[in-house]
Amino acid sequence: MTLAAYTPRHIPEALADLFTIALDLRWSWHHGSDELWRAIDAETWNATGNAWLVLNSVSGDRLDTLAVDDNFNDLYRKQVEAHREFSRAATWYSDTYPGKLDRGVAFFCMEYGLAESLPLYSGGLGVLAGDFLKASSDLGVPVTAVGLLYQQGYFRQTLDADGDQLEFYPFHDPTMLPVSPLTDPEGQWIRVNLPFPGREVRLRAWRAQVGRCELLLLDSNDPRNEPGDRGITSELYGGSPEKRLQQEIVLGIGGWRLLNELGLDPAICHINEGHSAFAFLERAVQWAQIHGTDIETARLATRATNLFTTHTSVEAGFDQFPSHLIRLYLEPWMEGTDVTMDKLMVLGSSNGGHSRRAGDEATLNMAFLGLNMGGRLNGVSDIHRQVTQALLQPYFPRWPRQDIPVESVTNGVHTPSWDSRHSDSLWTKACGKDRWRRPMAFSCPMETITDEELWQMRQAERSDLISYLQEKLKSQHCEHAPGNNPNAACGLLLDRETLTLGFARRFTEYKRPDLLLTDETRLLALLNNQDRPIQIVLAGKAHPRDDYGKQIIKRWRTFASQPAAEGKVVFIEDYDLAVAARLIQGVDVWLNNPRHPWEACGTSGMKILVNGGLNLSQYDGWWAEAWEPGLGWAIRPGASFAELSNSNEHDHSDADQLYELLETSVIPEFYDVDMEGRPKAWIARIRRSMNQLTARYSANRMVREYVETFYLPMAANGALRTPAEARNLLEEYQELECYWPRLRFGAMEIKPENGMERVLVNAFLDGIAESRIQVELVAEETECGPRSIVVMERTHALEGTLRGYAYEALVDARPPGHYTPRMRVRDDRLNLPLESPKVVWMR
Ligand SMILES: *Cc1c(COP(=O)(O)O)cnc(C)c1O
Repeated sequence: MTLAAYTPRHIPEALADLFTIALDLRWSWHHGSDELWRAIDAETWNATGNAWLVLNSVSGDRLDTLAVDDNFNDLYRKQVEAHREFSRAATWYSDTYPGKLDRGVAFFCMEYGLAESLPLYSGGLGVLAGDFLKASSDLGVPVTAVGLLYQQGYFRQTLDADGDQLEFYPFHDPTMLPVSPLTDPEGQWIRVNLPFPGREVRLRAWRAQVGRCELLLLDSNDPRNEPGDRGITSELYGGSPEKRLQQEIVLGIGGWRLLNELGLDPAICHINEGHSAFAFLERAVQWAQIHGTDIETARLATRATNLFTTHTSVEAGFDQFPSHLIRLYLEPWMEGTDVTMDKLMVLGSSNGGHSRRAGDEATLNMAFLGLNMGGRLNGVSDIHRQVTQALLQPYFPRWPRQDIPVESVTNGVHTPSWDSRHSDSLWTKACGKDRWRRPMAFSCPMETITDEELWQMRQAERSDLISYLQEKLKSQHCEHAPGNNPNAACGLLLDRETLTLGFARRFTEYKRPDLLLTDETRLLALLNNQDRPIQIVLAGKAHPRDDYGKQIIKRWRTFASQPAAEGKVVFIEDYDLAVAARLIQGVDVWLNNPRHPWEACGTSGMKILVNGGLNLSQYDGWWAEAWEPGLGWAIRPGASFAELSNSNEHDHSDADQLYELLETSVIPEFYDVDMEGRPKAWIARIRRSMNQLTARYSANRMVREYVETFYLPMAANGALRTPAEARNLLEEYQELECYWPRLRFGAMEIKPENGMERVLVNAFLDGIAESRIQVELVAEETECGPRSIVVMERTHALEGTLRGYAYEALVDARPPGHYTPRMRVRDDRLNLPLESPKVVWMR
């Protein structure tokens, strides 16, 4: 396919700037230009929400007419001016950290959920990446994102008459997606070629404009590629492990090459999930070539500015590839570099590349590759940080779980993408128009908003939702639902005043989408209560290979079609961004009840905050940090992470708590109205939740945290790792490696002192400089006190020894044997213990 096929159509000169506006996905969240697109072609705009498609499918005659229409020209000029102003405006980044990250941040992710009209996502990970980009644009952070342009994306869902899930993969014509070919200054289409076994794979590059940021997309559907290669970027999470490896090579290696092709040398490489860890490899190899070093030096130099964010809670969530596939696909890439198969397998393993059981083939684990090549690592909530520490334990065999270097940044959502028109107008009244684009004050004074206004907003939002549900059910052919009362199937029995619960997410076992069905009789009683009924809206897809998830969908469908539940429980098909947006605007209570501690963070519950919805959720992920009495409701509050076990032991008691919360708190409070007909306590909860949580769980806060806690200090540290310094460090550490096995502890003595204890210990450092070693005294948590780590002071050299020193520390008294000294590397230039996980414990 040539570039000519993707050359934009001719439009009247007077309207030429429509191209720029139509290609900037900002229309998907900003809504300033809605009127413009509606004026051009209301039907297409309403059906697809895709401005680029509107512009490309409207007739030439229609555009000619509009070009001379005064009203339209007014609209058009206003939008062009607004867009220019937006591009010029100062931002948080340009005001606060001008120039600090000007080489930019490269952000890699397997999926992006920016708008339903650009379907390159499956679920939470992609939506988070989309929200991250939008907030980066708002704040002016120079992020360039890299991803894949899937021709079919993730599957589309319908349910058949029996409630079985059907899966469809409609083809997305790239000319109809809001993206454009990525061209060089001469107008040539930018290409990236990758060496594959016996061939080159040609990649095409596309660009999606996301406000001030860009998303660059690669696809392999070049007609000159072999048929199998053309399909590498056809489906998201669909293919075999081999296809997945090909995708990850295209994303990581191809993606980094694409950035180079554009002349970019990003200050930071941030991979969102281990799928794109090959980007770290390619980055190191290129650095080695540019600076004439070996790969080890390059790894040391580049890793300081590599950030790895993990989102998974299960080991199976880390992609692993058998070595024969790695050899097949990466040997052509290794040619001409000093990376070898052995070296690569070591980098992708926790244990030096040896499989644990004899006879097993070694595998390359993308998370360990990310860890070996990364400078810092973070999970996406505090509990998830601890879960990740447990998952990475094999990499740090001598470290207690708590000391494994995992940090955390709790996710957030792009508030302007999720607010309803009703909440938008209330927030504007309370806090002004620009409130989400600048750093948000953690609480915006909602006091200026009366109870009456808040309640009116909620009533209007719920009512909009009911209308939307009825419309959607109609498009699901509800009239033809077999054996059902058509009024019920079409949502005509849904009530605009009834407490409405929402549950929508991936239907997969750990999320327990059937927890509410544990006791059907109890649920039916809630649905059918005369005075205080509830109604429920559900949505979600089960992965095509997840039979369990599909069964739960079917179970809900069966439950919903029995006469006793008829019309009170509805299932909306094909959960996507558009469906999510409408559900989270309208529901009173959002339900999330995963098995603790498996929800890495969870973000859908954050989306309802801005709209005054309340959360009823498992005390897990973000909710364990956000919840306090009075702010929504928590199931099993205070549950702490002890160990990883996917047991269902709490399922029954969690379900019991869920029912009980509904019966004794949620439902009574909603229906307990005052003389004006308003539920006072409920409104107070809404107010607190909006005030305390909306800004805190926004992507605005999240992006600022990444910038200030990670990107800026990492870039500063990275600047110190020049080729000379990296060589120097490498030499130092190779030497340290030689002497390390000879480190040992001598005698230890404990003396009481003023109710405390002075601990004295001798340590022999052999060939290692004393400044490089930190001696610590570690006490594990006991009844006597919490865990503590005290750095011991070096007091004097031991005569007649080679670097033998006495160390001491004054600590709280503990029973004998409760303090253990250890030696670890001390070096401000490195992130420790990640970059040198050496440790010696006193035995
Ligand atoms: C927000 C969102 C998700 C993620 O929701 P979780 O609470 O993490 O399950 C998934 N899919 C869509 C379409 C979303 O908008």
